Amino acid sequence: MDLELSHEQKLLVTTVRNFIANELHPLEGIVEANGVLARDDAQRIFEKSRALGLYAMNVPEEFGGGGLSALDTMLVEEQFGHTSDILVRRAFGNVYEVLLSCRGAQIDRWLKPCAAGERTCSIAFTEPEAGSDAAAIRTRAVRKGDRWVLNGGKHFISDGLFSDFFVVTAVTDPAAGHRGISLFLVDKGLTGFTIGRDQKMMGLRGTSHVGLSFSDVELEDVHLLGSEGEGLKLALSVLGRVRLAQVGARSVGKATRILGLTLDHARERRQFSKALGEFQMVQQMLADSAIEINAARLALWQTAMEIDRGIDPRERISLVKVQASETLGRVADRAVQIFGGMGYCKDLPIERYFRDARIYRIFDGASEIHRTVIARSLMKGSTATFDPYAQ
Ligand SMILES: Cc1cc2nc3c(=O)[nH]c(=O)nc-3n(C[C@H](O)[C@H](O)[C@H](O)COP(=O)(O)OP(=O)(O)OC[C@H]3O[C@@H](n4cnc5c(N)ncnc54)[C@H](O)[C@@H]3O)c2cc1C
Repeated sequence: MDLELSHEQKLLVTTVRNFIANELHPLEGIVEANGVLARDDAQRIFEKSRALGLYAMNVPEEFGGGGLSALDTMLVEEQFGHTSDILVRRAFGNVYEVLLSCRGAQIDRWLKPCAAGERTCSIAFTEPEAGSDAAAIRTRAVRKGDRWVLNGGKHFISDGLFSDFFVVTAVTDPAAGHRGISLFLVDKGLTGFTIGRDQKMMGLRGTSHVGLSFSDVELEDVHLLGSEGEGLKLALSVLGRVRLAQVGARSVGKATRILGLTLDHARERRQFSKALGEFQMVQQMLADSAIEINAARLALWQTAMEIDRGIDPRERISLVKVQASETLGRVADRAVQIFGGMGYCKDLPIERYFRDARIYRIFDGASEIHRTVIARSLMKGSTATFDPYAQ
């Protein structure tokens, strides 16, 4: 059992870390103040990142990506956590692994342009009446001759104003329950497809979250991603890795950055002629944050290593999702407490980290849903936890 990173892994992490510190950190405050990332800045960070080979690192090399292993992806994603989501999207891309299910003509039309940064994609599963219960969607695709006709709507779709196309869940066989749901690649601009208003959020400034509306949108078979009726299964089988990366690893990265800033403050800020970090109650908060971050990172790495060994550690992805996002929430809360009034004041970024952290316990499956997955698995006799003694 060797947790020492290779020279190449350390180099990769250092390259990404330096890029984020030099190119992205200076933009964070500007995006927060303006609520938008300027087009020129977005283009510049995209070009610089591509030139360094840092764009679409999770996509296999044959499709134009970086071909990283699951563990390497987590190392990089942890670094991504050190900056705002919108800057990560523009600089490093957001190629959802469900697109790796593209076949034939779909590869050149959707997957490769996405890996090259020529097109961007969003995932559109959630509906006003179907959030946690993803199988309860009402969006419907009906076959008419050689066409599909799509009707319905989605909401909360991240980056929807910017995206060129959407991976959409739709019911294709109402009698088949969750086995009657399929995935479609739906391009912006199709007749009958409307992008709705930006639904303003508590945090995540700079990105959009939109409603989508489909009114008799005509699709062909080439728009069907994966097999008919296998949409939910396909989505769940690939979204786990995305969840581990974009929620698990990024939460660990965010918590690490916040703890670093909190430690600086605890060393520098003096009250009662002492540094804050000399008070035992502050020390307890610092120590608890370090303990939880350490545990979350180890669970993340262990789960990523299992994926690289060909195991599908679905319950453990749920476990890491809850553990890492809730760790982030507690670390951010303690940071506000240790910064005192300045933690609540917009002059410092701590209040932003606190706001941004809150969504990690909700999207990509809320904590309660993932706890249900873990508990069900336990009840069926699985250990759910890492079991080195399993035969
Ligand atoms: C900022 C943001 C970005 C998002 N981006 C996207 C996106 O890009 N694409 C997309 O498709 N969706 C996206 N979503 C939607 C997101 O995934 C959902 O909000 C999330 O899955 C929860 O669904 P809901 O909001 O409908 O909450 P609900 O399902 O109404 O749940 C509300 C509460 O009830 C609890 N609950 C529900 N069912 C159970 C149960 N069986 N047992 C115990 N507790 C339960 C939940 O855990 C939660 O705490 C985004 C949401 C936000 C806020």
